Amino acid sequence: MPRQHITAHIAILGCVCLGLQAYLFHLDQPVNAGTAPAGQDFDSPGSVSVVVNKERPLRDPAYVPGELADVGGVALRREAADAFARMTADAAGTGVVITPVSGFRTADAQGVLHADYAGRYGSELAESISALPGHSEHQTGLAVDIGAADRACSLQACFEGTGAGAWAAANAHRYGFIIRYPAGAEAITGYAYEPWHLRYLGPAAAAEIHDAGITLEEYAGLYRPPGSPTAPPLHPPLDALP
Ligand SMILES: [Zn+2]
Repeated sequence: MPRQHITAHIAILGCVCLGLQAYLFHLDQPVNAGTAPAGQDFDSPGSVSVVVNKERPLRDPAYVPGELADVGGVALRREAADAFARMTADAAGTGVVITPVSGFRTADAQGVLHADYAGRYGSELAESISALPGHSEHQTGLAVDIGAADRACSLQACFEGTGAGAWAAANAHRYGFIIRYPAGAEAITGYAYEPWHLRYLGPAAAAEIHDAGITLEEYAGLYRPPGSPTAPPLHPPLDALP
């Protein structure tokens, strides 16, 4: 066999080996290894990727996002508002009416809402269904609660069975929204299932999260299952970040 053929065969074999190695290394990585996708800012309140939850309140409890825009009577950050308008128009085109119920809320409005829930249901239940001021995604202008035209199952788990709920679950990611508090993820997100609460992240991140069937916390590398040997503290508070 001519020498150049041997060299070519060795090169091909080397490539195959390297590819196999890379593949096996990839398989070896645990799912949700906690490595945040590069280039996304999960910490700044003005970032579309910001992660706000019970353990990661906004640094400024009175934070108000810039560039709020009205969409169907609620306010959202402009990018989210534009995406929401496109989404609801496309849904309407298929005969499904999705109505915005609640968008941006100020810290004060959030406080009134939380106090109202606490008064009606007690503080423990209020904690599982509503956030304290400074701890709500609604304060970022990136979250929107949706409803059906006839208000069926409004803000209830059975909303998933309505036309609007089913359409959103199947399609919202294409417009950059995720169902932020999925069923069965309360231990990760801190909230009960809310099929009506959509969070804007942009189409790429939303599609990745939707397709992987994970939560934003897992996507951002902020959650490890309890007992994980290398588990970092869960949801380090934003103030603790550099
Ligand atoms: Zn909500």
